This record gives sequence, C-alpha cells and structure tokens, in this order.
Amino acid sequence: LEASKIYNLSCGGSTYQIIMPDYYGTSEFEEKYTYSGNDLGANWSKDSTVFRVWAPTAETVAVNLYESGDSTAEDLIETIPMTPDANGTWVAEKTGDLNGVYYTYKVTLDEKNGKENEACDPYARAVGVNGQRAMVIDLEATNPEGWEEDKNPNAGFTFNDAVIYELHVRDLGTHESSGITNVGKFLSLTEHGTKTPGGVPTGIDHIKDLGITHLHILPMYDYGSVNETKLDTAQFNWGYDPVNYNVPEGSYSTDPYHGEVRVKEAKQMVQSLHNDGISVIMDVVYNHVYDAGKFCFNKIVPNYFSRVTPSGVYSNGSACGNDTASERAMVKKYIVDSVLYWATEYHIDGFRFDLVGLIDTETINEIMEAVHAVRPDVVFYGEGWTMSTELTKKGYSMTTQTNSTLVPGFAFFSDTIRDGMKGSVFNASERGYVSGASKLESLIEDCFIGSSGTWCTTPAQTVNYASCHDNNTLYDRLQLSCPDATREDLIKMNNLSAAIYMTAQGIPFVHAGEEMLRTKINPDGSFNENSYNATDEVNQIKWDTLEDEVYADVVDYYKGLIAFRKTHPVLRLTTAEAVAEHVSVVDMEEPNVTAFHITGGLEGETADAMYIVFNPNKEAKEITLPEGKWHVCINGENAGTESLETVSETVTVEAISPLVLVQGENAVSAGSNGSSANGAGGVGAAAAVLGVAAVGVGAYFFKKKKEK
Ligand code: CA
Repeated sequence: LEASKIYNLSCGGSTYQIIMPDYYGTSEFEEKYTYSGNDLGANWSKDSTVFRVWAPTAETVAVNLYESGDSTAEDLIETIPMTPDANGTWVAEKTGDLNGVYYTYKVTLDEKNGKENEACDPYARAVGVNGQRAMVIDLEATNPEGWEEDKNPNAGFTFNDAVIYELHVRDLGTHESSGITNVGKFLSLTEHGTKTPGGVPTGIDHIKDLGITHLHILPMYDYGSVNETKLDTAQFNWGYDPVNYNVPEGSYSTDPYHGEVRVKEAKQMVQSLHNDGISVIMDVVYNHVYDAGKFCFNKIVPNYFSRVTPSGVYSNGSACGNDTASERAMVKKYIVDSVLYWATEYHIDGFRFDLVGLIDTETINEIMEAVHAVRPDVVFYGEGWTMSTELTKKGYSMTTQTNSTLVPGFAFFSDTIRDGMKGSVFNASERGYVSGASKLESLIEDCFIGSSGTWCTTPAQTVNYASCHDNNTLYDRLQLSCPDATREDLIKMNNLSAAIYMTAQGIPFVHAGEEMLRTKINPDGSFNENSYNATDEVNQIKWDTLEDEVYADVVDYYKGLIAFRKTHPVLRLTTAEAVAEHVSVVDMEEPNVTAFHITGGLEGETADAMYIVFNPNKEAKEITLPEGKWHVCINGENAGTESLETVSETVTVEAISPLVLVQGENAVSAGSNGSSANGAGGVGAAAAVLGVAAVGVGAYFFKKKKEK
C-alpha cells in the first residue's frame, strides 16, 4: 500500500474508505528528515558555490546550470549530480565564480515510471524572467551605497506608535498626473519632487508629508499573475499569487531578465523610504501559492508544501486553490527562514500576513521569535479570519482573532471597527455608525478602547481601519450606502470615520488614497469592489484631484489627525490596564453620540485631559463638558495639534462630526508645524470667525512662542 493513496474495502455489501496515514506528518518522517541547517539554496563565494536542496523522497537530484534565466532558452551549460546528505538534503559544489549563473534542480522521483521534475529552487535569492530559473547571486554586490548604515527610522516605536499606509506599487505612478518617471517600479518610491501639472506634490512626497510612519506595500515578492516578458502590454494584479517567496517581483524592476536588478532596486526602495523616515512593511502570502501543482517546493517533494484532503484534493480554505501545510516541520522552517531573510537582507520592518488564519500559531510564534532575536523593532499583523482548512497533523491552533492570546505581539485587522463604522463589507448598502445606522454606540465604545468587542484583549493587537485594498474604497462605500447624501455629508462621514480610528486605541491603518476620497470606478460607471486584476485606470491614484480644494482639504484633515495622534502618547497605550487607567467611556443621553474622557499623567503627554465626542447624527448636539477650559483641536472641518478655539461648560458638536478637546497649559502646539498640521487656513480662519475666543487663543500662542 502507498501512503499517498486511498483504498476502498468492500465487506458484507458495504464499502469502507481506508485512508492511509499522512506519511509526511509521522514522527518517523519528521525525526529522520527535518533539516535544521541554514544553508539551503545556492551559497555563493568567489571561489565556489555550494547547492543544497531538501528532497527526501527523490531517487536522484542534479543541478542544471544555464546561461540565462529564460526557461524557454536552450542554453544548458552542464548538469551536476548531487550527493545525498543530512536529513534528506542533497548537495553539490561547483568551483569558480558562479555569480549570475542560472540554475534549476532536476529531481527524479520514480525513474522506472518516468517521474522527473525540473524545478526552481524554493530558496532562490534571485531568479530569471517569470521566476522559472533561479540565479546564483553575490548578494553583497547588490547593496546600494550606504546600505550598511541603513536602518529602521522608527526602531524605537511600540507598534501602537505606528501609522500604517497601505499601497500597491503600480497605483502610485500610473496616472498621467503623477509626474513619476519610473511608473510601476520599486524606483517610483525613490522619486522626490514629483508634482501634478498644477504643481501639487505627488508620490512619496505626498505620503511623507501626510506624516505616516509605516508604508505597507502590497505583495512585492515574485508573483505569477503578471507576465514579465510582456511588460509593454497593459497588466495589473495585486499579486496575491506567490511563485518565489524570497525574490522581489520582476515587473516592479527595470529589468526582470537579469536577476540582480530586482534585488538591487528593491533594496534601493527600502533605503530611500528609510531616509524619508518611513518604515517598510511587506505583505506576505504564505497561506497559499499561485499554482500548487507547479510550485517548486511541491515539484521537489510532491505535495509536501500544501494541505491535501483525505479525498486527495488540495484543501482550499484560502479560496485560492490550495492551503499551505505550515504545520509540517520543513514548511514551518521555510516560512521562518523566509521572513527572517527579508528582515535581514532587505531591512524590512514589518510583515502583514495574508489570511493568517490558515497558518498555525506555533509557526507564527517561531517567526516572531526568530526575527525579534535580531530585529526587535519588526512588527507583525495579519488577517485573522476564522477559516476552514484541512490540517495534516492534529493538535494545532490557527492564528485567528479569537486565538489572539496565543500569539502575543501579533496584531489583527479589526473588521469590528471597519464594519461598525460603515456597514458590513458583505452588504454594500448596509450603513454603519458614521453613515446613519443606530444602536452601534457600544460597539464603537468597545473599539475605541482597543478591545474590539470580544476577540481582542489588548490595544497592541488591534489594527483599526475603515478601508483597505479589498472591497469598495471608503468614499465609494459611503456613496453606495447613502445614495441620497450630499457630497458635503459624504465627506463628513469619511472624516468622522478617520477621526474615530485615528484617535482609537490600537494601530491605525490608512488605505492609500482614502485621504483624498479615492474611488475605483469601472468603465461602465459602477464602483469596483474587487480590483485585484482590474486595469490601472480603475486602480491608480488620481493625483490631479488634489488640485481641487475639496480633496486637498480632506488630505489636510488626515494630516492633522495623524499629527494629533503622534503628539499624544495617551492615544497610543499598549495594555488594557493602561487604557482602563486613562480612558473612560462617558454615558451620553443623546442617541448615537459617544464620548470619552481621557486623563493625562503619562510620560511625554502634554495634555492634562482629553475629551473626545463623536456625533454621527444629522443634527448638531449640545453637550456638557467636564469642568475647566478646553481647547478644540479637531472638529468636523479641521484637525491638528493647535487650538481652534477654547470652550467651557457646554459646546456644540456639529452634525456628522467629531469634537476633540484637550486641556492643560502645554496641551496644544504653538505652530512650528502648526499651520500645516491644521491644514490650510485652519487656525487663521477659525480665529477670524471666533472673535473673542480667538483673542485668548492668540495670546496663548504668543506666550508659547516667547518661551521658545
Ligand atoms: Ca513575477
């Protein structure tokens, strides 16, 4: 009997299915074939290269050396037989300088029956076009100048200090108004001084000016859905279809044919972002591969990488055709090695795990332990939805929201706050807290204190957001659910949701372009809710909209929110205990209104107290304030670190608006970055309207300036 097959036993007129034990998962297999060395792949030196591959089920293995990385070229240099070595690995050494030589493994699984596969190296550090051949590489030669000094500019942060911005590489530069030269390339993120025809900054200058701290880049490893030999034709994909986990995507490089180019340019991008004060987060998709049957690891060790159900088909909890068997020893090692490699070789500062609910908690904890041993500043989060998958071994828990206590230090996207604010992503016409739904006060209160209802016990594990690349953009969603709302009200809803997640306890996350009312419109005029393979025209950031004051004001509002958050450590507490000590939910009589009283007394916190009110109602509401004078820093129109006016006793919270008030002698900044933080005309305009109150504010600023 063969371990991989299913047999039927007929007995007394009934048929019974006999499922063989999963041989890969047996302790016998794992004890014999778990290799723990760190030299898998092609290990280059000037004098020789040593190849090592894990192929315990192979009869023989050989290395094919090629002139080029193009798998259609017949340019074999030679085939070198490999020798069986420790724990199911095979080794071969070739003398000479092999930097730039391409290679594959020829794996004979069953010579008698002609079962032989040619595969790329799962541990490839560089590949040729479309990732079918690996390349031997001198990694040090790909380091840009000054790389030794390059480091995470925000290394001292706790995760709650981060403000994440999620971007697809192509979306940055494909619109004609971007002014970007390296359209769709890693290098587009190194371009400064780019502007719209009307002179508004675009690209990385815009992102930097916004004040975000961490740039989350949609998949940038080598993926399969864009043909790298046809980059002159229109192609777009988000890239959630991994082909080579340890290599940057070729279409984002200026030359996908030469393996070292993408490696060098990805490093240049990271270095440039670091120089701009921005940390870099990579979106990693270990939960499934582009094509399980063709994935190199599975070609070398048949179906070892992927979960197979008892009926012999790939488990498909990912809905992408296959699920990764992270619980298997050498898959676990592979994922740990891969994340550690990006954190060290490419200086990546954070990892966002796609569908991490398909990966076991043991693997995630091993990843964090390995990376934090050398880079304690690296952050981890992911999509912790509960999914159905076919584990190959028993006794594993999956990395889901509800298991958050099993993976301390790993944060999860909060669909609770996302759907609570604007309605469920599964029903586009449903409204949320900011768009007119009622009875959501307690949900918003829970999210605000960083507990996200039931699944989260610490604000260090909740990523708060209103939108991301998936589903409709925030502005499109508001239009869909509120077809009769005016543009002014839609913008108020947009800004109210931003004010909620940007002041809530947890880690705020902005979808690129949300701050400029990003929209994804199909050619037929409908809104696109899943643009993974839509055109550039649907996906691109339309920079020229910033020439319209309405859009520019929304950008200023986000910028002010971010500046306010960064100024106040009391919004960035890392434990539930600290939240309980500093943040109280205020019992409000008005329906739908929520309010929070926050006390200072924290190192670095300039505010003695803070009072935050959200009014999603269509009418303004008057509320009573706690004793004392309060500075308004954020209302429905403006956001920033300066005082827009001072109020006491009672105050009106405008319709569909937040009101954020701070108290204390040094609670508001006095303008070194002030006017920019409060947006064009923020303080000035408010002061002109507010008359008497403005005099007080002005005097206050004067005093602060003199002290400086
Ligand atoms: Ca690719």
